[in-house]
Amino acid sequence: MTLRALNFILLLTLACAPAQLPRSTEPVDLVVATTTDVHGRLRAWDYYANQVDAVRGLSRAATIVDSVRAANPGRVILLDAGDLLQGNPLAYVVARVSRDRANPIIAAMNAMQYDASAIGNHEYNYGVPYLDSAVRQAKFPFLSANTYRLDPEGVHAYRPWTIIERAGLKIGIVGATTPGVTLWDAENIKGRLRFGDIVAAVKQAVQETRAAGADIVLVTVHSGLNEPSSYDTLTTGVPSENVAARVASEVPGIDLVLYGHSHKENRGSTIGQTLLVQPKNWATSVGVAHLVVSRSGGRWIVSEKRSDIVQSAGHAENAAVLAATDAIHRETVAYVTTPIGSTSERWSADSARFKDTPLIDFILETERKAAGSDLASTAAFSTDVVMGPGPITIAQVAQLYPYDNTLRAVRISGKQLRDYLEFSSRYYRTPASPSARLETDRQIPGYNFDIVSGVDYVMDVSRPVGSRITR
Ligand SMILES: [Zn+2]
Repeated sequence: MTLRALNFILLLTLACAPAQLPRSTEPVDLVVATTTDVHGRLRAWDYYANQVDAVRGLSRAATIVDSVRAANPGRVILLDAGDLLQGNPLAYVVARVSRDRANPIIAAMNAMQYDASAIGNHEYNYGVPYLDSAVRQAKFPFLSANTYRLDPEGVHAYRPWTIIERAGLKIGIVGATTPGVTLWDAENIKGRLRFGDIVAAVKQAVQETRAAGADIVLVTVHSGLNEPSSYDTLTTGVPSENVAARVASEVPGIDLVLYGHSHKENRGSTIGQTLLVQPKNWATSVGVAHLVVSRSGGRWIVSEKRSDIVQSAGHAENAAVLAATDAIHRETVAYVTTPIGSTSERWSADSARFKDTPLIDFILETERKAAGSDLASTAAFSTDVVMGPGPITIAQVAQLYPYDNTLRAVRISGKQLRDYLEFSSRYYRTPASPSARLETDRQIPGYNFDIVSGVDYVMDVSRPVGSRITR
């Protein structure tokens, strides 16, 4: 080794020393940048409309993260709260069209240097082997403290927590996953995995993280704030879906909770001592939280915390994310613009929840043929889709049904059919008078209004739910 090289190494060591010096008594302003529910929105491109998406995309979010890192060198932690592997045509092409390549979703996140991510429920949509392959490719840990193997029973299927070092501090990061996977992806997890209660699992993981020397603890949880579960927790035995608020109020020792799943936005709220943040889904915004950590009574405490949301709109796309996703972007555009049929008439979904439409009739007939069943049911998921006259592309069908559902045939009785239609009819409120406008119940999402073909029925919404199917 030459003297020159030795000098260089010494200089480098000196330059690194201040950042690594542990236990300096100066307060440290740690910055936690966060995303959640990215759902394949790697680039600022709308694959349904085949045009630039001006307001979202991980490539825009990455530019925000870059500037946060530039302003706070060596003090930024980047976390995601899950639901990244599924949810748009790009994610579908990665999982189902051509799988013989490195996962570009993970490549984009590696390029952004994420420190950890929670595992979301949609990570299971393409099966456990697909998720596990993504976990292996990631240069950051995927965390879930409440996901257990069935064989051997009780063993964590994924890392429950990790500890990273930043600015001389040990930062514990705990992850968790909404247990609703038990019901939504029952086929994919059968015989493999079990999901426990988030609150109890996070409590244990936080204790372990503290015992392992964490100075501060961050939790990234794929679970809404406190909304009622979309399933019956009593009859199913599946723990609550949305518990981020309970994690903050019931688990001591957490400094920040990043949560996702509900696709809402929370620029920062506090429960007890714990700060909660939720950036908007589809990389529409980035959460930026500041935790000022000070030495007090022989340990580090967060003496000040604040957070904000930065909108992705108006930020240029990051070159590293564009490079990591260039090939999959081209492939996805080619895929979604492929014509798969044509119509000589204009088909619109706008009135599909009020009357028979050729578009939904076509979907129902396709289902009946494919399943070999007498009846078929579906919902008009999106009501703003227009097809034809002319060729119909994959993008248009994906716009009508953005999620990958599974077609299933089941045998039901006439009574079950009637009950099912009554349940579906909850979407409409009972009008105040016979001449009043038809109104929908805002509590019931339109995609839960199912339409059945193969049978004629009359739904009289002037009657109460339970006696509306009059024929
Ligand atoms: Zn989601």
